Amino acid sequence: MEDSKTPRNKRKCSFCGRSENEVGFLITGMNGCICDSCSEQAYEITKEALRQSQGKAEELNLKELPKPQQIKEFLDEYVIGQDDAKRYLSVAVYNHYKRLLQNADEDDVEIEKSNIIMVGSTGTGKTLLARTIAKLLHVPFTIVDATVLTEAGYVGEDIESLLTRLLQVADYNVAEAEKGIVFIDEIDKIARKGDNPSITRDVSGEGVQQGLLKLLEGSVVNVPPQGGRKHPDQKMIQVNTKNILFICGGAFDGIAQRLNTNVVGYSAAKETVKIDRGNMMQYIAPQDLKSFGLIPEIIGRLPILTYLNPLDRNALRSILTEPKNSIIKQYVKLFKMDKIELVFQPEVFEYIVDKAIEYKLGARGLRSIVETIMMDMMFELPSKKVKSFEVTLDYAQKQMDKANISRLQNA
Ligand code: ADP
Repeated sequence: MEDSKTPRNKRKCSFCGRSENEVGFLITGMNGCICDSCSEQAYEITKEALRQSQGKAEELNLKELPKPQQIKEFLDEYVIGQDDAKRYLSVAVYNHYKRLLQNADEDDVEIEKSNIIMVGSTGTGKTLLARTIAKLLHVPFTIVDATVLTEAGYVGEDIESLLTRLLQVADYNVAEAEKGIVFIDEIDKIARKGDNPSITRDVSGEGVQQGLLKLLEGSVVNVPPQGGRKHPDQKMIQVNTKNILFICGGAFDGIAQRLNTNVVGYSAAKETVKIDRGNMMQYIAPQDLKSFGLIPEIIGRLPILTYLNPLDRNALRSILTEPKNSIIKQYVKLFKMDKIELVFQPEVFEYIVDKAIEYKLGARGLRSIVETIMMDMMFELPSKKVKSFEVTLDYAQKQMDKANISRLQNA
């Protein structure tokens, strides 16, 4: 028996038998001790046992799953505007669950998956939508970036590595990962660069798209569990992508200008159609993606095409204060932790939006502008005995005038 009365140099780990001076440290219990390395092992064993006993982490049950309208309402709390994209996403996620729950033997109807592609300028909320939807998902979800992909044999990542993260979030439970959702960001970066691939080798173009096509279509692929090519000896894990839902997002820079000519031509033919020139993205069609350089087979496997609106002044103003997790709410919380009440003159919000528009910083710039305005106070106030601070328009302007704008523009 070992207890706290046993002399220190005699105490041993009850699991491995090593004495106190042979281990990092001992944790003493009522009738025994455990050393640091045995407790670590015990932790791993417990984790594994729990995972196995829970089997499939959670059984899907259509009645308990959020309906498309509920999913959208949740998105509304965090993301301003973008109604179309929200509706498409909500339906796609709900249908994904249904597909996982379908009973294939019941009849001959098999619901196939409908991967999605979202097109919208950078900083309009594509990744934010994906991250927000992840919060309420009941299946593994991950966001990956297409820019790291190159054709096999070149520097960069093989296409299969897109699934490594999904395996990791599913705790390497392959069956769970096979029901997951993958958001592929910057899909436009693997578009074919030119029409003639023989001039320079197009390592990030068509070869990568062919690889991606395999994943989208549904096939069994070998996934490196650690990702990348840094671990050449790793044993590959086979993953069937048939039921994995892919959501792709991309800015497709310049696509709106090209759309312009097509849509204008169309509306000239049909005079009754009125086009909204401020937001050409809404007219996007699959053939526009083809002319941008995506191969038709990929486009065929992304049957749901939706778009995000450019953010206008009102949207930027709302983004600043309205979302549950808005930038301003975050700063108020930061100060509240120091027991300082932070208030903003409403004119300051208009001013911040003006600056974001003036410097073409979009929604992403809002944070760097607020950061610039608040920097001095974040530095000084925690050491002062103040109970509140009001950010006036005058103060905000002074802070911005002092700041180095070029630094902001690189943010
Ligand atoms: P994208 O993926 O389209 O390039 P992000 O989703 O990464 O853009 O958006 C960048 C940042 O801008 C987000 O973190 C968020 O703070 C803000 N933002 C962009 N669009 C919206 C929106 N519609 N509603 C709320 N915040 C937004």
